[in-house]
Amino acid sequence: MTQPVFRFAPSPNGRLHLGHAFSALLNQRLARETGGRLLLRVENTDTVRCLPMLERRMLEDLAWLGIEWDEEPRRQSEHGADYQQALDRLGAMGLVYPGFFSRGAARQAVETATARGRSWPVDPDGVPHYPPEDRDLAEAERQSRLDARAPHTLRLDMEAALDRLSRQDALPLTWQEEGGGPEGETGEIAADPGQWGDFMLTGRDRSAAYHLACAVDDAAQGISHVVRGRDLFLATSAQRLLQELLGLPQPTYLHHDLILDSDGRKLSKSRSDTSLAELRMAGATPGDIRKMVGL
Ligand code: GLU
Repeated sequence: MTQPVFRFAPSPNGRLHLGHAFSALLNQRLARETGGRLLLRVENTDTVRCLPMLERRMLEDLAWLGIEWDEEPRRQSEHGADYQQALDRLGAMGLVYPGFFSRGAARQAVETATARGRSWPVDPDGVPHYPPEDRDLAEAERQSRLDARAPHTLRLDMEAALDRLSRQDALPLTWQEEGGGPEGETGEIAADPGQWGDFMLTGRDRSAAYHLACAVDDAAQGISHVVRGRDLFLATSAQRLLQELLGLPQPTYLHHDLILDSDGRKLSKSRSDTSLAELRMAGATPGDIRKMVGL
């Protein structure tokens, strides 16, 4: 049997909290129990919110917790060429198009359509699907906007992607789930990538968006087991789709429970939830943190 490879993939856009500690410690425990390796990935393609200072603090918090890595961390900001290569391949399949709507304009287009009584699908993050106008744009118009350097994201043409996989008899896509979904789903799970609509592959600054970077990196790091919070259960559908289109291996997934605050809400880096740094300052030891998260 090949050696299992686990990863912890935080974004340095705030201080780590108990939820991160649980995820990192669980990955470490599973890697130890299975004789596997544990890798760190710094998910910092969003250079506005992910700051080097926050990354330094994140690494300090993890070292304090006693987490050790079997390789140097992989920083997404250093692998733009890998994401570009994947984009080029999707582009060559005719599955990528420029999206010219700003976030506000897209919202407006959807509001106008729904006000006229049209129903509009919403993705699992609660974001309405991207309007179809840009996908259906006449080639000359698209080119003239590109020539005029109109700001744009790059989007996946979901319909064309599913059509391609259907012609290859690759549908339905599934994944192996060892943790559980929101309804406790385990075992072989049917992926439903269509629920993400024409999701973003790159932002306006050309940085790779989450699903693309994650699918490329899990393959590049040889990850066999993706162990992460249940809030990313539905994201797996989008990532399985990209893996299939790009011919990448598919890991096994374990989506674990989230650590909730006293009001039953998910901990968040943007609210000042109990960060590991605050707990440490208040005198908590790494052993206390393990107890607090039940590991
Ligand atoms: N970077 C993501 C986060 O911090 C995790 C991504 C993943 O584990 O796939 O929420």
